[in-house]
Formats: sequence, structure tokens, C-alpha cells
Amino acid sequence: MSDDAPAPADNAGYDEWLDALADGEGYALVCPDGHGSLPPRRVCPECGAAALAEEPLAETGSVETHSVVHVAGPRFADDTPYANAIVDFGPVRLTGVLRGVEPGTDAVAIGDRVAVGVEERDTDGEPLVAFRPTDGK
Ligand SMILES: [Zn+2]
Repeated sequence: MSDDAPAPADNAGYDEWLDALADGEGYALVCPDGHGSLPPRRVCPECGAAALAEEPLAETGSVETHSVVHVAGPRFADDTPYANAIVDFGPVRLTGVLRGVEPGTDAVAIGDRVAVGVEERDTDGEPLVAFRPTDGK
């Protein structure tokens, strides 16, 4: 008897999600109560519901907060300084780097709309979630 299925890797599902996002098909996992989460979640982090539906992400979100990172771990060593942002996409908030603006300037303000995509980390070329200001904000 053996029902100990191998535990999924920590990022199982996340890489897939990143690929979808890169193709312009990003989505959020939304439970019946409307709580949003992202892969690799398998149950709603707020209420534990297991029935998560994929809802397409909007093309742009609203900047909730951003800050400049001057000192980063090895994975981001060559990227500094860079701006980190948390962006509200309705059911979910995404964390990523803010590109296309000079870090530390007022080019992007709280509440501005930014587009989401997948770009490469300067340090090692790994994909990451990136935001860029949209025209006519
Ligand atoms: Zn829920």
C-alpha cells in the first residue's frame, strides 16, 4: 500500500503559469467565494476551497506599492538598483519588477496602470514578472 504520491515541487505549476503569462494568457485562480490566488496553489489560501477556476488576468493592473531595491541576493545581484512593485489585478495582486522607468524616480505613482508581462532577469536570464507603464495612464 502506497498512496504517498511525490510532493509537487515548490514551483510546480508556477513555471507553467509564467509561460501562460508570457503568451498573454495570464490567469488567476479564483475560488467560489471570489478569493484569488496563483499557481502553485491548489486550494484557496483564504477559505480552503479546492474548486479553483482559472480567470483571465486583465492586461493592466493598478500599482499598489513600489520600492527600489539597491541591495539584493545573488539571484538579482546584477539587476540592482531595480524597482519592485505590487500591482492589483482584481482577484490577485502580483509582485514583480517595474521596468521602463528609472528606479527611484516618480515616474510611476500609486494607482497608475501598468501592463504585465514576462521578461528576463539581468543577472541570470531567468524569467520574471515585469510591469511597464502603459501609454496615456
Ligand atoms: Zn476562498
